[in-house]
Amino acid sequence: MKKLAFAIGASLLSLGIASGSVAAEERFITIGTGGQTGVYYVVGQSICKLVNRGAAEHNIKCTAPSTGGSIANINAIKEGSMDMGVAQSDWQYHGYNGTSKFEETGPFEDLRAVFSVHPEPFTVVARDDAGIASFDELKGKRVNIGNPGSGQRGTMEVIMEAKGWSLGDFLLASELKSAEQSAALGDNKVDAIIFTVGHPNGSIQEATTTTEAHLVPVEGAEIDTLVSENPYYSKATIPGGMYKGSDEDTNTFGVRATFVSSAAVDEEVVYEVVKAVFDNFDRFKGLHPAFANLKEEEMISAGLSAPLHDGAARYYKERGWLK
Ligand code: GLU
Repeated sequence: MKKLAFAIGASLLSLGIASGSVAAEERFITIGTGGQTGVYYVVGQSICKLVNRGAAEHNIKCTAPSTGGSIANINAIKEGSMDMGVAQSDWQYHGYNGTSKFEETGPFEDLRAVFSVHPEPFTVVARDDAGIASFDELKGKRVNIGNPGSGQRGTMEVIMEAKGWSLGDFLLASELKSAEQSAALGDNKVDAIIFTVGHPNGSIQEATTTTEAHLVPVEGAEIDTLVSENPYYSKATIPGGMYKGSDEDTNTFGVRATFVSSAAVDEEVVYEVVKAVFDNFDRFKGLHPAFANLKEEEMISAGLSAPLHDGAARYYKERGWLK
């Protein structure tokens, strides 16, 4: 009799444990990335890989589909169809403040910074046979200015406005997505492509190996003004020798890739995501060559203009990185 009572007790106990872990309800999160051949896609996939490894403890399941890029991600987070996403530092700034492309929709006050990732130089690649040695020589040429919703399309429009250019200044202004444009350059459908992207990456490698092509510098008075007047831009250099056809350094300007979320996303969820990345930081850095030089101290402040998400701040305080 005693034995039976013990057995029942034990099975009740194990039931209790089982129902306890079921009660720690499964949560699914989605991270907005970019085109499949870009670095944002690897950022999202890498974060999810690290989060999903810990699912037994926190029960968070993470997916990171390809998307249209920065601006599309911020809009999706605002609508609540995505929980987190990668976005250029310039579009994080404008999203939060309701400026530039976000003027019509207004400030997204709940936008939250989580951390920044790799630097992203504004990158222009031209076919060698197109006669484009400087950014201004894009005028009159067939240029892929990028899909609406992408960070590079937005930033390209900012440069065009600074220079007083319109779409009519190009022979063709195509709107191919980042994953399609390297092939279009190789097939001679366009003379030049643009991509705000971390280096080195497979997409620019494809563009510079499938045809004779080179990186084009983006500099001059308008760029100097953009960089000196806006905290989210800085001068950038793509090292010579990184890509075929570009042995010298290429001067341009750039932004940072940043990871953002919304105040509407649970503190605990953001905490667990941040913890998955920084508790496994060496592993994370090994997942793409553009992550090789990442430093924790820089990632919690550089390029961030929206307030830090509470879940991120909690982890940074725990590590002693924030007061
Ligand atoms: N910076 C690009 C964008 O905001 C995406 C870069 C990438 O896919 O790595 O759309």
